[in-house]
Amino acid sequence: MEVRAGVPLAGVTTLRLGGPAARTVEARTADELVEAVRTATGPVLLVGGGSNLVVADEGWAGTVVLIRSRGIAVAADGDLRTVTVEAGEPWDALVARTVAEGWAGLECLSGIPGLTGATPVQNVGAYGQDVAQTIAGVTAYDTATDTVTELTAAECRFGYRDSLFKHTDRWVVLRVVFALRATDKSTPRYEELRARVGEVAPLADVRDAVLALRRGKGMVVDEVDPDTWSAGSFFTNPVLTPVELAAFEARLAPGTHYPSWPAEEGTKLSAAWLIERAGFGKGFGGETVRVSGKHTLALTHRGGGTTAELVALARTVRDGVVARFGVALRPEPRLVGVAL
Ligand SMILES: Cc1cc2nc3c(=O)[nH]c(=O)nc-3n(C[C@H](O)[C@H](O)[C@H](O)COP(=O)(O)OP(=O)(O)OC[C@H]3O[C@@H](n4cnc5c(N)ncnc54)[C@H](O)[C@@H]3O)c2cc1C
Repeated sequence: MEVRAGVPLAGVTTLRLGGPAARTVEARTADELVEAVRTATGPVLLVGGGSNLVVADEGWAGTVVLIRSRGIAVAADGDLRTVTVEAGEPWDALVARTVAEGWAGLECLSGIPGLTGATPVQNVGAYGQDVAQTIAGVTAYDTATDTVTELTAAECRFGYRDSLFKHTDRWVVLRVVFALRATDKSTPRYEELRARVGEVAPLADVRDAVLALRRGKGMVVDEVDPDTWSAGSFFTNPVLTPVELAAFEARLAPGTHYPSWPAEEGTKLSAAWLIERAGFGKGFGGETVRVSGKHTLALTHRGGGTTAELVALARTVRDGVVARFGVALRPEPRLVGVAL
């Protein structure tokens, strides 16, 4: 494996931000991935597609391991398709293939950037589906015990944009096993999607509708559209306890309608709604960093800016929402060498 010095991380992140890495190694197989992490000098930063990373202008003082392992294996049993995917497989190409083959379960996750190995990390989700619904298991390298382990879905402890693998450097996802159904039909749960394709629709129609909806919101990475140069949603939707919800409602004008959903630990609010109502509409910001012109939840870097500027914008938005609504928004991407 070739080790390179001083590679700018701006070149491997969708935000196009981040200073140089002291050392960069490219791992092309699962074995190389384990070896690269095992023999790394200094702290390790795993980078897949770089679409959920906000890296400091100072860069990374340790080793960056670029995940480039490829391979997909399929086993059929009745109408079950067990699809085993190496961590470095591009996610949307995998979704496109499952749709073309007539394997249901990933179609609503069309257009999400990045690589397959990162999808369990934050239990990637969109339009009513998340990967936890179809992941049967994960093979991971456990740096704490120096062993490769097979984890069941239950052991992955999936939650809303959360899992065993988030907020820790202990695990390296080597491959993911999906259990999909051989059927051409999808039954989308998300209302905006059902309104477009109906209650039961061909997988390809659902994929096309999701891609169209996402493009309208700047949520499909497009080289020529700076409204898509982001890390996706910068904040997660906050979940409020009943006491917190009552305090939030007390700050609203009587009769104000706000979007909300029941969640396991309380009530989930829309971060986009809160940001917009706190005065940070689409396009808020300056020349180099600003709220996407297509989606209030995405903070974009338009070129020529710095991570420090992006983080300052994120702080302004977060603090403004606290001042207006008393609700603390939390960042969704991994912040590397910076804090809000
Ligand atoms: C335009 C846009 C739209 C987006 N839309 C969505 C969306 O709809 N839903 C959603 O959930 N997310 C969305 N995202 C966020 C992002 O695409 C996903 O989180 C994606 O899964 C990240 O994959 P990646 O390969 O780019 O990960 P990276 O950004 O490279 O890494 C993300 C984190 O995972 C870790 N990591 C990466 N690979 C591995 C591995 N193999 N093992 C262990 N840790 C690993 C990294 O160290 C880092 O902490 C969007 C992002 C963008 C830019």
